[in-house]
Amino acid sequence: MGWFKRKQQTDAKPESKDDIWIQCPSCKAHLYKADWEKEFKVCSECNYHDRLTWKERVDILLDPKSFKEIGSRISFNDPLKFSDAKGSYAEKAAETCKKTGLNESIVTGSGKLNGIKVTVAIMDFRFLGGSLASGTGEKFLQAGMFAVKHSQPFIVFSASGGARMHEGIVSLMQMPKTCAVLARLREANIPYISVMTDPTTGGVSASFAMVGDIHIAEPKALIGFAGRRVIEETIKQKLPDSFQTAEYLLEHGFVDLIVPRKDMRDTLHRILKYCTGK
Ligand SMILES: [Zn+2]
Repeated sequence: MGWFKRKQQTDAKPESKDDIWIQCPSCKAHLYKADWEKEFKVCSECNYHDRLTWKERVDILLDPKSFKEIGSRISFNDPLKFSDAKGSYAEKAAETCKKTGLNESIVTGSGKLNGIKVTVAIMDFRFLGGSLASGTGEKFLQAGMFAVKHSQPFIVFSASGGARMHEGIVSLMQMPKTCAVLARLREANIPYISVMTDPTTGGVSASFAMVGDIHIAEPKALIGFAGRRVIEETIKQKLPDSFQTAEYLLEHGFVDLIVPRKDMRDTLHRILKYCTGK
């Protein structure tokens, strides 16, 4: 009967179910965490592409250790000294910086993609919903000017709920500001590739995300300006279920191609080779 009395010999902490399983945020299927990570956070059941942090995106996209950040000191501003019922914007943003390790909703830098030098700007939804604000616009501008100076193709990954209301008109002014630097790229004949990930909405979809030389989207990404309910109430019509999805936008000519995450690097490489003649 010694079997039943035998004590566990090891002191190692047993794995909890959260270490092993993950639930797909879209279809709620239970998936092995190891498989989920291996598939770059894409659901094997429904093909949902979960949101990535900027670092995960860099790791998937760029050659190891090639990324060098641009404008790392630029952070959020509080030009209106804004506060609402939940407290001040400055406190909320400072707390978000601490929690995420980010200083704005975008990370910009330069690196190599399969050996080709590129400038990238990657939005991170964890920072106040990837909202577009003065710090975001300034980082975007500096990255764009870096791309012009060094003749590097510019690749932007969008993930945003739109303009940051805490900065009011100042955040709206980032729409023309980002587009102005893209015009400089165009004058210099430098390709600008816009990659829209889930979600790309509001002021971001109405500015830099939609003026790329090439528009790429991740499968099933939500892409649009105003929300579905607002549009339905305005036009008094029911919209199709696929409205504001990457697939719908491809069908209607706003998106050039939909690329699964696992193919993103090779597809971008092919486009870059075509654009740069390398
Ligand atoms: Zn799923």
